[in-house]
Amino acid sequence: MGEISKLKEYAQENHVPIMKDEGIAFICETIRTQSIKRILEIGTAIGYSAISFAQASPDVTVTTIERDNHMYEEAIQNIASMHLEDRITVIHEDALNLSLTGTYDLIFIDAAKSQYIKFFEKYSPLLAEDGVIITDNLSFHGMVEDITLTHNRNTRQLVGKIKQYIEYLKTNSQFETVFYSLGDGISVTKRKKSSEK
Ligand code: SAH
Ligand code: MG
Repeated sequence: MGEISKLKEYAQENHVPIMKDEGIAFICETIRTQSIKRILEIGTAIGYSAISFAQASPDVTVTTIERDNHMYEEAIQNIASMHLEDRITVIHEDALNLSLTGTYDLIFIDAAKSQYIKFFEKYSPLLAEDGVIITDNLSFHGMVEDITLTHNRNTRQLVGKIKQYIEYLKTNSQFETVFYSLGDGISVTKRKKSSEK
């Protein structure tokens, strides 16, 4: 079994919420077709998506942020065992407390769903002129489309937050967003050209 399949299996056994195959394939395709080089990821977990992006093209470098100690340690080990430590930097910090500089061709938001708007507001200024922001889990296991699938108040609140984020993207005057139902629901956001604002 390949290293990446082992990571996927580990994630499934340990309930680590890694991105679905369809979503990974979509982003890797975007990386190749749009010649994306600098990626910022919010929410590393065990490094599965960061490693997949780095493997999509040798020109890619990934900066990825993870606040959880255990996840951070696992990610560091996995990245080292794939010899990708030169191209993937893991920052051990809460993304909302960090002050990061730099410019990124792709910003991938895949951390706490209740904070999506905050992540977007904080990190969208780092997006390159023609860059894209991709957000994962906008369907949240189908619950965003069908609220009756939720079974407790916390989950309903999270679903509410995701809906607010979707509305925020739809009504944003600076950015335009396309929503895709593949994987667990992802969005692709780009800056509006000044003629479209
Ligand atoms: N992108 C990964 C999965 C990430 S799961 C993959 O597809 O392989 C979400 C991760 O985000 C969790 O590990 C969680 O600890 C982390 N996280 C949640 N909120 C965060 C925050 N505010 N700052 C940094 N990491 C955060
Ligand atoms: Mg996700």
